Amino acid sequence: MKLYAFHAGGERADMATFDPFDPQVGTPIDIPYFFYLIRHERGNVLFDTGAHPSLATDPRERLGEEAENWEIVMSPEDGAEDRLASAGVAASDITHVVQSHLHYDHAGGLCFFTHAPVYVQQTELSFAYAPPVYQEGLYLKADFDLPDIRWKELDGEHDIFGDGRLVLIPTPGHCAGHQSLIVRLESHTVILLADAAYLVEKLRARALPAGPLVWSPDHMVASWEKIEQLERELGAELLATHDLKFRQRVRMAPEQFYE
Ligand SMILES: [Zn+2]
Repeated sequence: MKLYAFHAGGERADMATFDPFDPQVGTPIDIPYFFYLIRHERGNVLFDTGAHPSLATDPRERLGEEAENWEIVMSPEDGAEDRLASAGVAASDITHVVQSHLHYDHAGGLCFFTHAPVYVQQTELSFAYAPPVYQEGLYLKADFDLPDIRWKELDGEHDIFGDGRLVLIPTPGHCAGHQSLIVRLESHTVILLADAAYLVEKLRARALPAGPLVWSPDHMVASWEKIEQLERELGAELLATHDLKFRQRVRMAPEQFYE
């Protein structure tokens, strides 16, 4: 089994996004967008699908007024289909799609993978259709309200191939139906957190992100406790999607990240 990481654009923001009490509030940060490919002997599993490539050229068209709140830094090649192609993988090679959650920076590429089942927590799908007012701008119906998507709605933990190597775990907090993925490789175990935490250091410090990015602080902290327990039990490495130090930590596709 092999794990590949794809950097697919990002956005410029302020440190306050990640922690309104951080001493570096007022400092601009470049937040990367990532998605991942896991090649398992029984299929090619995509974990998240990045942002829609049209955000590179006309963010207002898709995001509406919300575009004013986010300075998106993407090129038109940062869509999931093109990023995969750059590593020699066709969209049609993907056999399973997992969505950690359905915010626009994670679910914008769903339209390229309507041939594959899409694993999402049922709670997240309902939440995406009727989000609280402070997260309305983060859910774009254009991303996920597509008639031909083959949803595989989950209610809790799910072992994708039944062999314990790719196990989805609910990690609510950022939004109601967020999930993370345990990836048990030959060499070691990684937990792809997605946005269960923006930065692992903030998880350690129990420092919550900016208000609108937290659906429930209590659920988020409970998810952090659970993640750290799994980290200890499995000797796992934690990897957050928007990690600012990704360049030091992650090798990009087409190089495999881990085996
Ligand atoms: Zn995100």
